[in-house]
Amino acid sequence: MKNEDKKKDIPSPEEFQKQLSDFMKQNFSGMGFSPFGGGASGNKESASGNDEETKQSSIEDLLKFDYRPKGVKAYLDRFVIQQDEAKKVLSVALCDHYHHVRLALEGKEAPNYAKQNIILVGPTGVGKTYLIRSVADLIGVPFVKADATKFSETGYVGSDVEDLIRELYRRSDNDLKRAQFGIVYLDEVDKIAMSQNSAGSRDVSGRGVQTNLLKLMEETDVSVRSPNDMASQIQAMMESQKGQKAASTINTKHVLFIVSGAFDGLEPIIRRRMSEATIGFASSRNGNQKEGEMLEQVQTKDFIEFGFEPEFVGRLPVRVVCNPLEVEDLFHILKTSEGSIIRQYEQDFAAYGIDILFKPDGLRRIAEMAVEEKTGARGLMTVCERVFRNFKYELPSSDVKRFEVTREVVDCPAEQLKKLLAEQSQKEREVAGKILDEFVARFEESHEIQMVIEEAGRRCLIDHSLTKGIPIRDLWLERFKDYQFGLKLIEQNTGQKKFIIDEAAAKDPDKRLSDWVVASYREKETLAENVDQKNPETE
Ligand code: ADP
Repeated sequence: MKNEDKKKDIPSPEEFQKQLSDFMKQNFSGMGFSPFGGGASGNKESASGNDEETKQSSIEDLLKFDYRPKGVKAYLDRFVIQQDEAKKVLSVALCDHYHHVRLALEGKEAPNYAKQNIILVGPTGVGKTYLIRSVADLIGVPFVKADATKFSETGYVGSDVEDLIRELYRRSDNDLKRAQFGIVYLDEVDKIAMSQNSAGSRDVSGRGVQTNLLKLMEETDVSVRSPNDMASQIQAMMESQKGQKAASTINTKHVLFIVSGAFDGLEPIIRRRMSEATIGFASSRNGNQKEGEMLEQVQTKDFIEFGFEPEFVGRLPVRVVCNPLEVEDLFHILKTSEGSIIRQYEQDFAAYGIDILFKPDGLRRIAEMAVEEKTGARGLMTVCERVFRNFKYELPSSDVKRFEVTREVVDCPAEQLKKLLAEQSQKEREVAGKILDEFVARFEESHEIQMVIEEAGRRCLIDHSLTKGIPIRDLWLERFKDYQFGLKLIEQNTGQKKFIIDEAAAKDPDKRLSDWVVASYREKETLAENVDQKNPETE
């Protein structure tokens, strides 16, 4: 091949970058490779549950940071029910951290300051993420959440934990300074403990991930461009060729790390340690302690026994326990939390002009059912979806404008919905009946002729109006439009002033009227003959 031909085959860096980016888009877009997918929309989804973009602090705001732990807890109380101890410990750690950040920004950093990274222990759905998201919202710092398991699955190598920091950068609108004070929240961290990770299905050991995280938690510089992202590497290369500034780095010294997990199996470790320590005097007391209380006693060595590297646990000095939620807690979440799911249902129905009123017994029943789901407050969403599914489908097209959520509704939604719709149609029947009464009254007033609609006739007209969706007024005017003339004629023929509308007349009023008219002429003739016979004319 000639040199020139060769040249033709080699794309320019720009072409290569485009080809590569097209290839990545075509082959890998939508494969959910991002570890920040789903729930990890940063703090876009604010504590109050709406989608407003969170207020982002500027560095000047952080310089003015003067929250007190009680103030932070009071804020959290608005959203997060229970978890009092967790809220307190978190508030203190958060205030310490950001006061330290302020001092660092002022150039007055304390030398051997130990960062207040946090381990949050608690089952799923009890408010761990909600707590962290809410504080990040309050302070206005960027927040990233990811599952630790993602970093050890196929497609991810250990070093990719650095992507967490790059994501902080992205969420701070590429503001390097702000990204350095963000919060990284890593869930399911218990799954990267060694003893939990022996299945061999992962291509990188939990230990490797722990080591990489450790580096981030200590202090390291992370390039804003990923070494695994070819496109951004090529761009960096092109920029440096053009003499532009090399890619910047984010320093992780002040990034706050919070890791969490359910830590199944941790409690027996603590229980065992404590009973060994107390053999002979207080062992019986330990046996009676609840799981939550036991977890509060967790120590570094318990985490190590659980499967964490000592250095890793050592970098997470703050231990917070979130307790399982009970019926009463779920009831309060529904009733009082600012992010309560029932607000969403109220809004959803209000969009169709329907008022939904949650009665306390209904809320309690939802809470009771949600506890059975064993997914914490997430169970509330599952139960509500199941209960209101058909209400959401049927009511917007009905005339129901208000309904109450009672215990019965939660227990038997299908039956209660049917009843509600039937009650509504009963109300409509009553209204339609009154309209018919008004019509016959007006007819009598105008024409001095009485029409009496029999029960069967009334039912026939109302049924037709409801099933065909024709207003009863229109149906009446259409069916009885000739009656004023016909009945007047009959009255003239026979003097009859009262007419009964039975089922047959309601079904086919024209036929009934013409029968009546014909009969009235006959009657008139008979009457005339009778009169003739009584008074024979004499010539
Ligand atoms: P996890 O503990 O698994 O991180 P989350 O914090 O994501 O659970 O909880 C899921 C949702 O349940 C939250 O968005 C919130 O609406 C609700 N929730 C959970 N726990 C609480 C709580 N203690 N108080 C109020 N709402 C809660």
